[in-house]
Amino acid sequence: TSAWSGKHITVAGLGVSGISAARALAGLGARVTVVDGGDNEVLRDRAASLAAGDITVRLGDATTLPEGTDLVVTSPGWKPDSPLFAAAAEAGVDVVGDVEIAWRLRGEGAAPWLAVTGTNGKTTTVQMLASILEAAGLRTAAVGNIGTPIIDVVLSQEPYDVLAVELSSYQLHWAPSLRAHSAAVLNLAPDHLDWHGSMAAYAADKGRIYEGNKVACIYNVADPATERLVQQADVEEGCRAIGFTLGPPGLSELGVVDGILVDRAFVPDRRTSAQELAEVADIAPATGQPAAPHNIANALAAAALARAFGVEPAAVRDGLRAFRPDAHRIAHVADVDGVAYVDDSKATNTHAAEASLAAYGSIVWIAGGLAKGATFDELVAASAKRLRGVVLLGADRRLIGEALARHAPDVPVTDLDRTDTGAMAAAVREAARLARPGDTVLLAPACASMDMFANYNKRGDAFAEAVLALAAGREADA
Ligand code: ADP
Repeated sequence: TSAWSGKHITVAGLGVSGISAARALAGLGARVTVVDGGDNEVLRDRAASLAAGDITVRLGDATTLPEGTDLVVTSPGWKPDSPLFAAAAEAGVDVVGDVEIAWRLRGEGAAPWLAVTGTNGKTTTVQMLASILEAAGLRTAAVGNIGTPIIDVVLSQEPYDVLAVELSSYQLHWAPSLRAHSAAVLNLAPDHLDWHGSMAAYAADKGRIYEGNKVACIYNVADPATERLVQQADVEEGCRAIGFTLGPPGLSELGVVDGILVDRAFVPDRRTSAQELAEVADIAPATGQPAAPHNIANALAAAALARAFGVEPAAVRDGLRAFRPDAHRIAHVADVDGVAYVDDSKATNTHAAEASLAAYGSIVWIAGGLAKGATFDELVAASAKRLRGVVLLGADRRLIGEALARHAPDVPVTDLDRTDTGAMAAAVREAARLARPGDTVLLAPACASMDMFANYNKRGDAFAEAVLALAAGREADA
């Protein structure tokens, strides 16, 4: 019998991670109750397919703790101040997340974890890292806030050598005993503050990723808040702080010299020598576009984690060459009339949009959607000089319009005053009217998509469709 047999586990949330946790824990002999505050047809169908034997599902009540609960396993979306957790605290019952369960379930001699968090760039960096590890001949998977639920990966009989683990601030909040081999915090900007309660609480949860690191804590030299988190962490003896920078690297840093990614951290004598890893041009050549600065930073972070694990320089280069970015992340859709059209629908917050705007010279910017409480002054002030024009759509477009009026009064702005799905095609046509040859039309909304679309994928698809229609129209005219 396992340590879980006979235990009564309450799983909060009947979603992907909740279902995976419930199945796994029941499989190990636990008695599981899944609770969800909702009660609708989708949830009832899921409940019907899940409830059996040792799994009970309770819908329509997310506040009371089931009788005899030994441990609560929560889904990432649940806020720390949820009434269920107050009830758990009252009863002296711990609350943990799926990552914590995966960590506790991993077997003797299990694969070490190389972990990544940050406000933006997590998925890209973890995928670059997995690509590098594969190029080194290591058996690995990109997991965590991405791909197959992490509990399923840990319980699978696959013999992994190392895991590339993406962790959200939520997952870190609920993973108290996680101890990575090495970890990176890519950047820190206000996001999800409604969940965490404050910037300090958000940063503290991100910083948990460094706790107990064995080999390296990797931080962003350009973002001192990430280095402060390293200094605050309690790590194993001999664990090193390693920075990454877009400029020439100092001691114990990775950086860029004359278009080459170089390592002055994991080399025998870093005072006198640096190791060349790859050219900037080796980053995702399949896209046919030069890497945006934020993706060079992501590549350096991935390279640092791989080097901390002992990967050779040639594998870093090969892995970066083989890397293919996910859709809707700075995806070049087409050139029409000498104007490049780029889909960065995944830029769902201001920090991400600022990074993608910084990657281009003269831009017609398509923005707007759900602001999630963000302010746009900093983003607009930083980007104003590059804007040829702006097209606004979506529910909170006026907030961006007001920031533009304050910081970029001379930039032409078209407020489409629309939130219907067809607005994206209108936005693309309007952007084409504003653009001049050599410009980039950039969809980087700085907002969530759910006011107009099911998700950011659908928003990016609508943009790409409109661009291709524009291109087809031009060909027909010619
Ligand atoms: P995450 O998994 O953290 O959401 P992604 O890799 O999916 O991050 O990238 C999301 C968006 O964030 C990208 O479309 C891009 O606009 C922006 N981005 C990516 N990397 C960075 C970075 N290092 N710094 C700032 N913004 C970034």
